[in-house]
Amino acid sequence: MKAEIIAVGTELLLGDILNTNAQYLSRKLADLGFTVHFQSVVGDNPQRLQQLAQQAKHRSDIVIYSGGLGPTADDLTKETVAAAYGDPMQFDAAQFEKIEQYFKACNKPMSENNRKQAMVPANGKTLENRNGTAPGALFEQDGKIAILLPGPPKELVPMFEQEVQPILQQMQNSVLVSRVLRVYGIGESVLEGMVSHLLERENPTAALYAKTSEVVIRITAKAENKQRADQMCDETAQEFYQILGSSVYAEGEQPMEQTVVNLLAEQGKTVATAESCTGGLLSQRITSVAGSSKVFECGVCSYANRIKQSILGVPEDVLNLYGAVSSETAYYMAKGCQAISQADFAVGITGIAGPDGGSEEKPVGLVYVSVTDGTTVWIHRMVVAHRSREIVRFSATQKVLDMVRRLLLHLPLADCECRPIADE
Ligand code: AMP
Ligand code: MG
Repeated sequence: MKAEIIAVGTELLLGDILNTNAQYLSRKLADLGFTVHFQSVVGDNPQRLQQLAQQAKHRSDIVIYSGGLGPTADDLTKETVAAAYGDPMQFDAAQFEKIEQYFKACNKPMSENNRKQAMVPANGKTLENRNGTAPGALFEQDGKIAILLPGPPKELVPMFEQEVQPILQQMQNSVLVSRVLRVYGIGESVLEGMVSHLLERENPTAALYAKTSEVVIRITAKAENKQRADQMCDETAQEFYQILGSSVYAEGEQPMEQTVVNLLAEQGKTVATAESCTGGLLSQRITSVAGSSKVFECGVCSYANRIKQSILGVPEDVLNLYGAVSSETAYYMAKGCQAISQADFAVGITGIAGPDGGSEEKPVGLVYVSVTDGTTVWIHRMVVAHRSREIVRFSATQKVLDMVRRLLLHLPLADCECRPIADE
């Protein structure tokens, strides 16, 4: 089914606010299996809105409007769209009472203009607004539907979820279920090559989305009921697992730090961090997970060489000979952090986040990350080239979290230098 989205509001055309409603609605419609063909923005102007409403009604099965349902003179979406769908508006006393109650509850005076919000479609449907005064509306003519939602996202989102979604699901006569796999360590294009045959299918569909330091695979199945759709998603997910194995680090909304904290907690193990160029980002990510106090021992933010020496015990010779950004320094950072924390795993990160400070030998984006379990140190050299400071820093924390994950799962760390801790 063809859908389109129309956002109404001069403030959108002036660039005063961002059209986040369109993004939200597009995503939701796609999830529900509708094909969105157009998104447009029109000002608070009845002629242009009327023109667009006619055009949209002609070319789309369902048109979702946002904005312009308020009580003021420039809020004219309802009257204009009602006319396009040949549905007269009528005063609804029950609706008016609800609006009165809302104002009483908020202890605000109600103006005469608010009467306008009690005008509802004579033939269509009124959509209840539990978070504001402007009800939404649904108009229908010749099998074509218009749905009108209020502009403020905190009203639009709940109205969509509570009132509109069930109607759209019924129109589709089917259920859509999505499953998300999160992949680390394989770039989008390589991944695409590995799973291309699974991306060509029509049901379930599978698509890749590249995010910072990971790729997300979304599998969506359409079926007559949820149980069947779940089963179809499972089968396709299994095919991805067969190809990608442990590169799929989690499913759904679970980020890498959550995955690692969960594994540490399950195994009763702890971690500590020594960070230079990431300045505490890794400890921040770990401690953002609820329950991390059981698994996190300490974080050393050792920016200055002096601190790398005095707190972590990185030898002065090493810093002089190899520099702070080196495999050797990363080795001693992890080792020293483990010694002071007595954690099961200790991590070191040292690098050049940029934009300045790079050289030919040590370019911006060069980071050494290390992990030790107390007997061995694994060190990985990475160059996050041509990326912002934020991305360099995030990528380093993502990589080292994945190294901890791999150690916890007894998976190989193929791209790492492996140095036993010598008895010194
Ligand atoms: P309206 O219903 O047009 O009077 O809009 C009321 C308020 O909702 C605006 O002042 C914005 O803060 C917000 N709003 C309206 N349209 C959008 C939109 N398309 N995206 C995000 N916020 C919006
Ligand atoms: Mg407006």
